[in-house]
Parts: sequence; C-alpha cells; structure tokens
Amino acid sequence: MRRPGGVRASAARRVLDLLRAEGTLSRVELAELTGLTAATITNTVRPLIADGLVRESGRDERPGRGQPRRLLRLAADAWHAVGIQVDRTTTTIVVLDFAGVRVAGASLPGTGGRGPEETVRALAAHVDALLDRAGVPRERVLGAALATHGPQDLERGMLLTAQPGPAWLEYPLTAALAERLGVPVLLENDASAAAFGEFWAGSPPTDTFGLIYMASGIGGGVIVDGEVYRGRASNAVEIGHVALAGGRAPCVCGGSGCAQAEAGPQAVVAKALADAGLAERLAVRGEPDGTLADFDRIARAWRAGDRDAAAMLERSARWIGRAAVTLVNLFDLDTVVLAGPAFTVTGTLYREHVAAELERRALSRALRRPQVLVSSNVDSAAAVGGALHVLRTMRIGAPRLADRGRA
Ligand SMILES: [Zn+2]
Repeated sequence: MRRPGGVRASAARRVLDLLRAEGTLSRVELAELTGLTAATITNTVRPLIADGLVRESGRDERPGRGQPRRLLRLAADAWHAVGIQVDRTTTTIVVLDFAGVRVAGASLPGTGGRGPEETVRALAAHVDALLDRAGVPRERVLGAALATHGPQDLERGMLLTAQPGPAWLEYPLTAALAERLGVPVLLENDASAAAFGEFWAGSPPTDTFGLIYMASGIGGGVIVDGEVYRGRASNAVEIGHVALAGGRAPCVCGGSGCAQAEAGPQAVVAKALADAGLAERLAVRGEPDGTLADFDRIARAWRAGDRDAAAMLERSARWIGRAAVTLVNLFDLDTVVLAGPAFTVTGTLYREHVAAELERRALSRALRRPQVLVSSNVDSAAAVGGALHVLRTMRIGAPRLADRGRA
C-alpha cells in the first residue's frame, strides 16, 4: 500500500497524493486510507475544491455501499509539470498534468560534448516546443525537474563533479534553466527520481525497495516507507561507485573496481571494441557520445541470438547483481527495481542474473525470496519521477520566478 507522504506530510498533500495514485475516491475512502477523521477530510478537501485542484466527479453507486458517495478526483488541467532526464548520451522530457498523466514526451540525444550553457539553451527550446504542441499554457506549469547524475548540490542546483566536462562543475544549472523557461526548476538525482517515479507511477508491491538506475553510468535509489532515502544532502546510494571484490578497473570517481567501471554500459562497449572482429560484427562504433547507442546494438545482437553479446551482457549483469547484494544487505530490502535507458532492451536478462545473485548471496534471503522487477517506465522513469516530484512538492501559488525578477 502506498502510504502517501509518510507521517510528516500535511493532510492536503496526502489527499492529493492519494487522488493522484488512485484516480477517484470518496471522502469516506480518503478518511479510511489516511487514518484522518471524516471532519478533517471534509475541511481539507473544501479549500482544494475552492482552489480548483480537486473536483467532484459523479457518485459511487456500487451496490451494497449504502448512500451513494460523491467521488473526488484531481483537476487534471489545474497544473502541469515538466520532467527532464539528461545525461551524456540521452535526454528524455515528459510533461505531466496535475493528475500525473503524461500529456507530452520526447526522446533526444544527450549533452554530448556540449557545455552546460548550450545544453540549457537546447533543453529550454525543446521544453517550449513540447508545451506548445501539447497546448499547455506557461502559467499553468508549476515547475520543472532536471534529473541527472550526482554528486549534486540540490540547494544551489549545481553538479559537484566535472562530468561530463569541466564546465559543468558548479555551473548554476537550475538557475539558468529557470530563467529561460520562466518557471521554477529543481535538481534531482536521476536514480532517486526514478525510484520516486516507480513508487508513484509504477506498481511496486511494497513501499520499501531499492532501485538500480543505468544510463551511461550507474546510480542507486532507495525508497523507505514511501519516501526517498536522501542521506545528508541527497547524494546517497551511489551504488555504481561501491568497489566490488575482485574488481580492478579504474573509475571516473578516482577509485577502482566500482560497479560502474566493471559493468556499466561503457565497460561493456569497451569489451566489444577490444575485439575488432566482434566490434565490426555488432556494429559497435566507439563514438564518445554513443555509449548507449553502442550498448543498444550489443543488446539487440543478444536478443537476435549472438552468443558473444550474451556473454558480455551476462558478465555485466552478474557484477550488477553483486552490487545489488550490497544494496539489499545495507538497507534490508527484499525488492530491487531496474530502471534507466540501458535496461530498455536488456531488462529481462539483467533481472534474471541480478535475481540469481541475490538468491545466492543476500543475507536476508532465508526470510524472504528477493524479487527483482524491471520498471514500468524503464526508459523514462527519472523524467516521470522528476515531474511527479514537482507536482507533489512545489508550493502552488508561490511567487513565480519570472515575476519575482520583475518585482
Ligand atoms: Zn567509481
């Protein structure tokens, strides 16, 4: 059961969360699900209706339910949110309405060798075009979330790493994008956003689970009792940079033997490139910004029955499985979700091998068989999660950034 917002959330946020997750509910059902009194629900719902966020929506006339109850639902067109997931090799943009339904989306190339200024300019142009095409007026956009790799300074909206290039280190990403879009922008870790998106937009069987996110790099997220585990400053669960026993490959983080360096898409592609005949057969090109495209070619070759491609992916999947064992042992989890564009084709292969590693090595395996799932939004989980985060947490009616500048 999704526990909306945990115990800290306000009654209004819990009501909005539940309506977003369930579609329509009566006041009586809201009281049952939140544990709040009928009077509190009535008093919480009234201003939400007055503000145009919630609408009455017919009656629940199902037999055996006594007096028909008026149903409530979110006013889908009240607000919208934009989710942008970006890394070196891919970009995904989604626009969600207030009910969390996707009304527009686009898949684009990643940042490539471009600097942050040029990237922000291009992203803003794509978002503008998407909003126009979907007919969403700018004043109905609550905000945007930019989901990307860590480590990050969420408060200042900056990356604390020189990846993908030196110009990105401490560049004011959210401020620059907010200025161009005219709406507030928040920064989010892509793996955390994906975990969050899976919880609210997918159908995980539990409110406590881990998520492994694989784009051109590897990240991790953990949901505990329905909330993202953030650590001190939202740079938690960097499972791609946990060194694995027997690993030796040097990593961008300065360490060696990290899961990302041993088993990430770049490592798989490098293995293919090391054998000229194999690289040619699989059409792997080794272009600097083409890691995921190359990884995809290997994945498709595996699906077509290529045994070398299978061996490379299985090796990677076993390493990821060992990273998953660490994740599960650290957080006492029994469910791991795989998300991110690298799992779009290979999800089933990784699921099988990660599950096998967990069944062999997870310390809690005797208590409950660990389960591994592929995300229901495998390729756009971080963008969807980012947009949902905006819908759930951005203050409605707060002064808009664009207006604040003029005031
Ligand atoms: Zn590392």
